Amino acid sequence: MLLRRHGRLPNLFLRPTPLRSLPSSPSSQRFFAEVASSEKSQDVAILGAGITGLTAAYYLARETPDAKITVYEAGESVGGWMQSKWVDVEGGRILFEEGPRTLRPQDNGAVTLQLIQDLRLIPEVQVSSVRSPAAQNRFIYYPDHLVRMPHPSHGLVKNIYNLITEPVFKGGLNAAINEWREEPRSTTVTDESVGNFFSRRLGHQVTDNLVSAVMHGIYAGNIYQLSVKSLFPAAWFLEKEYGGVLKGLAQLRGEQATIQQKRMVPIAEEFGSGIHLEPDFRIALAHASVYTFQRGLGSLAETLKDRLVHKHNVQMKTNTAAQSVAYKPNSPTIELKHSGSESTDQYDCIISTLPANATSKICCDPSSTTPRVPSLGLIPSVTVMVVNLFFTNADLVQTPGFGYLLPRSVPFDQNPEFALGVIFDSYAAPEQDSVPGSKFTVMLGGHWWDGWDAFPDGEQGIAMARTVLARHLGIVDKPVATHATLQRDCIPQYTVGHEDRMKQAHRDLESGYRGKLKVAGNTYAGVGVNDCVRAGRDVARSVARGLKSANGQQVTRETGLQSFIDDEGFRVNYHGRKKD
Ligand SMILES: Cc1cc2nc3c(=O)[nH]c(=O)nc-3n(C[C@H](O)[C@H](O)[C@H](O)COP(=O)(O)OP(=O)(O)OC[C@H]3O[C@@H](n4cnc5c(N)ncnc54)[C@H](O)[C@@H]3O)c2cc1C
Repeated sequence: MLLRRHGRLPNLFLRPTPLRSLPSSPSSQRFFAEVASSEKSQDVAILGAGITGLTAAYYLARETPDAKITVYEAGESVGGWMQSKWVDVEGGRILFEEGPRTLRPQDNGAVTLQLIQDLRLIPEVQVSSVRSPAAQNRFIYYPDHLVRMPHPSHGLVKNIYNLITEPVFKGGLNAAINEWREEPRSTTVTDESVGNFFSRRLGHQVTDNLVSAVMHGIYAGNIYQLSVKSLFPAAWFLEKEYGGVLKGLAQLRGEQATIQQKRMVPIAEEFGSGIHLEPDFRIALAHASVYTFQRGLGSLAETLKDRLVHKHNVQMKTNTAAQSVAYKPNSPTIELKHSGSESTDQYDCIISTLPANATSKICCDPSSTTPRVPSLGLIPSVTVMVVNLFFTNADLVQTPGFGYLLPRSVPFDQNPEFALGVIFDSYAAPEQDSVPGSKFTVMLGGHWWDGWDAFPDGEQGIAMARTVLARHLGIVDKPVATHATLQRDCIPQYTVGHEDRMKQAHRDLESGYRGKLKVAGNTYAGVGVNDCVRAGRDVARSVARGLKSANGQQVTRETGLQSFIDDEGFRVNYHGRKKD
């Protein structure tokens, strides 16, 4: 558990709400009261209407009702990668997710749960219990068959038999011994790839078979490029402080201590005494593995949009791309140029939730192409093809589960399509469709397609996905509905040195824009929807604080990235005592 990206919030955070209609948490009400003191009208632009931009607009509109907020979205619709599509099939309709499909309630998930309650979306939430097949059965395909990952519900004997006999776990015992014995890294090393770190500590086999599969599932990325400091910060910290991960865990246990990532402290403090959730929702979530919505995750973005278009102080401009942002030192405003207009608009503050390289491109000195925040242009991303397939036969999966991932070590002849993983949607989100059947999502590409300048088209993607299902699961039926989407540059890659680049970006934003331009989104401190929701809410609060301050000025230190400097590292909690 300590190796997860962030520590879990205690179950305490699922507290009953004292009032059914309570619109927000006591802490956000307090915050609202603190900031709602000025009557001056000010203008804020939000660039991008993905989940980060929509969340930022929602909280900013609520917390500064006197500010005028304009949301600029280049596309026709809002939601960014979060898109859910209904497809008619004989006898009913089914839902295909083009992007995210499930959320976890833990960690930054507390902020999302609060938002869901505020939006009155609770009746649409569908929870998968920790006892569901999807929670208990997750697979890795290696070398030529599905291997079920160990889980307490399978029983000790089956788990041990699996660990001993399946080649995917080869090297596992040595890995544990090696991890204990391995020397810590040199103190001069400031970051390392996930692949190198785990190869050093656990051995190549475990790293290539297991760690790479998990990273394919979250980042579609190359473990020999992704940063261990950014993606496994607890492991990185334990090695440095205690000489190894297992040694660190043992010592913490002996001292009855736990570690907590400093970036998560504000969330633990805000929700530590409990989110005030409605009783039924709280009970359902107490045993939740993951959850989604009856109309898919896209309904979160759609509901936010519906709320925003009814706010008197919000204007949504779709089909309008931000083209450049300019700020002259000591100017009270910042300029935005956007498509559809020859002139520039003046704002008191701009929040960019665009992908970082898009933000970097629009932040150039006037009459020059030199980027003012060059480190934002250095964050690569990968392209993924998402193929959804629906079959009328409801019994196509032999062992129900969430789905399977493919590690980098799978022989090429078992995966010439470069599949990253397959989700068994009928089990992962079982109650969305109105007709029975088997629904799958096949994810293709990711880092395997790095450097490619041409990608498969939709027809080719569907054919490739069907070949994957035939080879791996023996499914030769013809799907009755299919949908393929090429998601170009959809998942940012936090590669080695990411933390340092973010610190540099913070300094460049601070000196170049003096708090007038702030950034948030999936390129910085977490790619999950929960991370984006938290980032959107936090940046909105930061802007609101500035607007409502005595002089109406933004706090120059608050760039959206200040936590990379202010909240770096972990703290150790000894029976309630805290040490940095
Ligand atoms: C295939 C896939 C599966 C995923 N699965 C999960 C999952 O199961 N769970 C999970 O938690 N997360 C998942 N994620 C991650 C998560 O969906 C994303 O990280 C998140 O939706 C990103 O939101 P965002 O608002 O930061 O960025 P985006 O969604 O990229 O939004 C940015 C917006 O800015 C707009 N824009 C771009 N340029 C301009 C411009 N110049 N002017 C104006 N607007 C512009 C874009 O059109 C877009 O709408 C998945 C992602 C993908 C791609």
